[in-house]
Amino acid sequence: MPETNCAIVWFRHDLRLSDNPAFAHAAAEHDQVLAVYCLDEDTAGAWRPGGASRWWLHHSLADLAATLSGKGVPLVLRRGPATRVIPELAETAGATAVYWNRRYYAWGIEADKAIKQALGDAGIVAESFNGTLLREPWETRTGSGDPYKVFTPFWRAYQAAGAPPEPRRRPARVTGLADPPASDRLDDWNLLPTRPDWAGGLRQTWSPGEETARRRLHAFVDSRLHAYARDRNRPDLDATSGLSPHLHFGEIGPRQVWHAVLAHEQANDGRTKGSETFLKELVWREFSHNLLFHFPGIFEVPIDRRFADFPWREDDEALAAWQGGRTGYPIVDAGMRQLWETGWMHNRVRMVVASFLIKHLLLPWQRGEAWFWDTLVDADHGNNAASWQWVAGCGADAAPYFRIFNPMTQGEKFDPDGAYVRKWVPELKELPTKWIHAPWTATPQTLEDAGVRLGETYPHPIVDHMAARARALDAFEQIKRDPSGGR
Ligand code: FAD
Repeated sequence: MPETNCAIVWFRHDLRLSDNPAFAHAAAEHDQVLAVYCLDEDTAGAWRPGGASRWWLHHSLADLAATLSGKGVPLVLRRGPATRVIPELAETAGATAVYWNRRYYAWGIEADKAIKQALGDAGIVAESFNGTLLREPWETRTGSGDPYKVFTPFWRAYQAAGAPPEPRRRPARVTGLADPPASDRLDDWNLLPTRPDWAGGLRQTWSPGEETARRRLHAFVDSRLHAYARDRNRPDLDATSGLSPHLHFGEIGPRQVWHAVLAHEQANDGRTKGSETFLKELVWREFSHNLLFHFPGIFEVPIDRRFADFPWREDDEALAAWQGGRTGYPIVDAGMRQLWETGWMHNRVRMVVASFLIKHLLLPWQRGEAWFWDTLVDADHGNNAASWQWVAGCGADAAPYFRIFNPMTQGEKFDPDGAYVRKWVPELKELPTKWIHAPWTATPQTLEDAGVRLGETYPHPIVDHMAARARALDAFEQIKRDPSGGR
């Protein structure tokens, strides 16, 4: 084996070169660097990337490979269980060290531990870094040393801890391994849909990659941050950052986002309601990852164990209507169609559609979580599971179960002109605003004038709001009566 001082950087949820501690460490300490990405669907099981994530991953890897190649560093792609692939590659490449940025879900942590052990046994250094969070989950604890279960004190603890470390610059100099092991061809992984190619809306909406993420961040901070607190709940406006898939794939890191906001504050009016609210959302992301780390069963098991006995229904027809945006509730249908078309949905509408599935339809939250996992480009281990549990009322610091969103009033409040519904549910386009969120309340003449035939061009509501609400509250009473409740 040649005598080299070669390090492998194993990329995972950190597909970028700036502010990437594992990559920076390898570039600084080693003569030669080899970049590796391992598509490990075996270890992830049901939580392997869904359809929309696979689309994103393909383009993000292509972008990363191009950027690395510009620096002379090869990116080797391999498919299979990482516990086999990584130690094998380290040996073939003659690497003296393998570096990675940490992940926080149970099967990832378990695999990483096994790999660290195997590399150590082979005399290869294995070292991990934080490239994904502002702070590590074990750094933020309550006075009694427990993880936080309530967001507000968690946020206060983050504020008290001060700004997170500054992001690192992209290494100026790095030398790639001259004779890299063979790589799979990205195209052979078939991450892109072909028959049918349903990704047209994704292509129109998104451009994965580190440079686009950086530009999106700065465009947001320069032009929309100041109005974020006022407009962030309005799905009809382009008021949020759209950074979620970039953050999930690590094309940009949260410390880069945090410090871009601080720099903007320093150059402008200091802390504003807009910047404070935005930083708080970034801390919600941290909170979700803390829950993910401390409650590893969060994907499937309700944190509030009373909900294990909740009398959920099974109803494939209702589930299909929800998935397809055919519930007869315009704000719900608009959200589900936005999701299908673009791989993304506005946060306010995510809450409304999730509440509708869980409470109006009484379907298990895990069904919605799985659908989001498959269709969201930002499908994220921490944010998705924690948010579904939050809406279901069974998570840590959850919204109480009896808070049931009314889809009509949510629509009126947050889509006041009906522009969002008109965009995604065009069959209601001509309906006057007064009825856009409850078409069944319009007079027959109004419907006719707008070209809406309920039951034909647009469905009748699949459940009656008041009856569904009463049914949900009844179901909740059943678990409240459970004498083992909450333990
Ligand atoms: P902005 O408003 O610009 O916020 C900036 C960043 O803060 C986001 O990119 C995100 O990383 C973080 N953030 C914002 N809101 C939240 C939140 N409520 N919880 C945690 N982090 C947040 N977000 C995901 O990234 N992936 C998911 O799989 C996901 N699933 C969700 C499922 C449900 C049922 C709900 C109600 C919310 C879910 N969210 C998820 C949270 C939130 O809806 C998205 O992060 C947000 O809409 C992304 O848009 P943005 O980047 O424009 O957000």
